[in-house]
Amino acid sequence: MSVSTPIVVVGAGIIGLDVALVLARQGLGRSVTIVAEYLPGDTAVEYTSPWAGCNFSAISGRDANALKWDRACYSHLTKLASENPKESFVVRTPSTEFWDEDVPHDKIKAMSEYLEDFVILPKEELPEGVSFGVSFTTVTINAPKHLQYLQKMLKEQYGVQFVRQKIPNLQSVFEANPAAKIVFNCIGNAARTMPGVQDYKCYPTRGQVILVRAPHVRRNIMRHGKDYETYVIPRPESNGNVILGGYMQKGNGDGATYSHENQSILERTTELSTELRSAEPEILASFAGLRPSREGGARVEREEISIGGGEKRVVVHNYGAGGTGYQAGYGMALEAVQSVEDLLQAIGKSQNGRAKL
Ligand SMILES: Cc1cc2nc3c(=O)[nH]c(=O)nc-3n(C[C@H](O)[C@H](O)[C@H](O)COP(=O)(O)OP(=O)(O)OC[C@H]3O[C@@H](n4cnc5c(N)ncnc54)[C@H](O)[C@@H]3O)c2cc1C
Repeated sequence: MSVSTPIVVVGAGIIGLDVALVLARQGLGRSVTIVAEYLPGDTAVEYTSPWAGCNFSAISGRDANALKWDRACYSHLTKLASENPKESFVVRTPSTEFWDEDVPHDKIKAMSEYLEDFVILPKEELPEGVSFGVSFTTVTINAPKHLQYLQKMLKEQYGVQFVRQKIPNLQSVFEANPAAKIVFNCIGNAARTMPGVQDYKCYPTRGQVILVRAPHVRRNIMRHGKDYETYVIPRPESNGNVILGGYMQKGNGDGATYSHENQSILERTTELSTELRSAEPEILASFAGLRPSREGGARVEREEISIGGGEKRVVVHNYGAGGTGYQAGYGMALEAVQSVEDLLQAIGKSQNGRAKL
């Protein structure tokens, strides 16, 4: 790998791309290289981001970090939806969410402070078996296309470089590239196994979804059950495609898809969405993806690591986004970048110095 920039982001999923975007918006784009085995446009079971549904919902954690990251990211995504919906593949979409039980009231109260058009639904409007429901304006995202939009913008508008490479460990990035001062570790599920990281709090959460063509579906709708998760997510700028889901199978790392799961998804989503059952959807494909989950939530943390000869270098870990990489990723990136503010100032000065020469 030949990298001449002081900042290296390992990983080109939504988490790594959002970190690069925050850095680029701070004027540091030309100081950043993204190194990844898989890049936007690729599909692999080890690359979760292209498989996301994808929306902003109340599915995220109830802890302070999740609330903060969601809020920052909702603001980022609604801005994209206002300014650039066609290119970014992010659009505002009306949404309904139902809970059968275990309603996260505190969290919903916090989210109601910023979600657009937020309404608690009257009991008489709730389907049988549902104990609580809300509606609001969400954003839906065409996940694979949004990744490609970010890559193009980062390259062409901000001068971020992309290198395809599988690295054996984080130390190797510094050892092979003396110019590297900071490495952002955005490797998703690989955080469990990569030597030197080996975070055993990480585990995959499998989800299977069906891609259908159903241009009559315009509304995002979700039902959170005790042991099931059902959702219908219109996919922006896709000629009427819709994602039907799904599953949240903790600890399951199987990338195959199963016909009996498709059958269950079709039954549950047809029951949930009046729009969906108003006309027969055309089934296009079925996918499985592995959410990079972590006990206690995502890890966003600065750490000093030793490289050859005992020298210290700075790594910022940013992984474990689980089922919320798109709806929390920009907020996580702001925090990850903030943690190395002191080092970035020096890098910015030297980049600007070079630019003036
Ligand atoms: C079915 C499904 C539905 C989902 N729906 C939503 C949703 O509606 N909303 C939402 O917010 N989120 C959703 N998610 C979750 C979201 O997709 C993830 O949180 C997100 O994609 C995680 O991104 P990541 O960048 O951490 O990981 P990844 O996308 O897996 O990226 C990891 C990157 O690290 C690289 N990498 C790993 N190891 C190495 C190595 N050794 N050397 C070099 N590169 C390496 C990979 O090549 C890749 O580029 C969903 C996920 C699934 C599966």
